[in-house]
Amino acid sequence: MTNGMYEIISKKRDGLELDREEISFVVSGLVGGEIPDYQVAAWLMAVYIRGLSERELADLTEIMLASGDRISLDDVPGKKIDKHSTGGVGDKISFIVAPVVAACGIRVPMLSGRGLGHTGGTLDKLEAIPGMNVFLVPRQFLQVLAETGMVICGQTDNIVPADKKIYALRDATATVGCIPLIASSIMSKKLALGTDGIVLDVKTGSGASIQDEQDSLRLCRAMVAIGERAGRPTIGIISNMNEPLGRAVGNSLEIIESIEALKGRGPEDLLQVTYALGYCMLRAAGIKTSFAQACEMFREAIASGRALDIFRSFIAAQGGDPRVCDDYSLMPSAPLQVEFTAPASGFITDIDTFSVGMAAIDIGAGRRKKDDAIAFGSGFIFHVRLGDRIAKGQTIVTVHSDRPERTPDVLERLGRAIRIGPRCAAKPKMVLYLVDKDGVRPWPY
Ligand code: URA
Repeated sequence: MTNGMYEIISKKRDGLELDREEISFVVSGLVGGEIPDYQVAAWLMAVYIRGLSERELADLTEIMLASGDRISLDDVPGKKIDKHSTGGVGDKISFIVAPVVAACGIRVPMLSGRGLGHTGGTLDKLEAIPGMNVFLVPRQFLQVLAETGMVICGQTDNIVPADKKIYALRDATATVGCIPLIASSIMSKKLALGTDGIVLDVKTGSGASIQDEQDSLRLCRAMVAIGERAGRPTIGIISNMNEPLGRAVGNSLEIIESIEALKGRGPEDLLQVTYALGYCMLRAAGIKTSFAQACEMFREAIASGRALDIFRSFIAAQGGDPRVCDDYSLMPSAPLQVEFTAPASGFITDIDTFSVGMAAIDIGAGRRKKDDAIAFGSGFIFHVRLGDRIAKGQTIVTVHSDRPERTPDVLERLGRAIRIGPRCAAKPKMVLYLVDKDGVRPWPY
């Protein structure tokens, strides 16, 4: 037992503020193996219950960040802006916003992750593209970014090793769902990449990892405060995850929908969130433009084909087959397609998006266990959205399945997740709030 650690745990347990040295003592003791896991676990529970002040949170994040390597982007010319999503169902925005914003002169480097729980992972989706390499060494990362304007790959083990240890303990001690711990975990990794600004898409609703709107706002504000305190312009939005984003859920299907969006055929809800984030990325880069002007730039980037060209060269630069952009038959597909049809006439009143994400995992689009193989062609195409009128027998979802034995259960699950009622519900707003250094505002555009 470490003596100093005993006092630090008691102090946090009693709701007192820790100084920077005390927080550093905990993190370095965990990483160096001098403090036993059970003491750090007790400290995490005290943090879960008592929270952290803004200063403690900034200190914890900086100390975690200092536990590992950073990637300098100084040798890549231009403004470099990262976009991070807290994860949702059908969230393929990175594949659209990165080339669109890159076509407007900003460079977009992203270190992304695998599927987590019911949400799909950016790296898994990219791996649906034949040949795509999502493991780049820093030299390759910088080269792809400099040559194409965007890069997306997984993070190395040397980036924020403290987060790996803390996350493993949180996972085992029911302290994952703690806003300061989530904020420091995400932002330490964001700050490890030497960008000029950070844009955050914090999802809220039934398909988000944080479902409650006020909690999503608290998380977003905490992360914006950390970024700004570290001297990085940081802007966040709260976006709606009460239904899947766009039409497609599942790896190959989402890449195809992203390419369609880059060809000017993206669904409205997906474009609304994409353009909101793109606008925040321009602002984080110091570009002063109105939202309307930014949207005009994004539409032009798509209509001219420049955004799609960037996406093609990004795929090629990371070893993938860029011909997928013109021939979707080169993407993996599922052997079975089944229609889920409306059991009654009425309006779509509710979609339990968490259950939709879990159903996608059931047909192979995600992993139940860490080492499971992904069926890249599996997933859903939604033909309706919340508030739409439907007739009995009309197709609501086309299920693309690689797991015929599980398909009947998945259809049943969709039946429970998608509610039909007699009254038309209001169409939900896709972007709810803007959060920046000046505070929180309802999304003004
Ligand atoms: N993603 C992270 O990186 N950390 C968390 O704590 C939660 C989501």
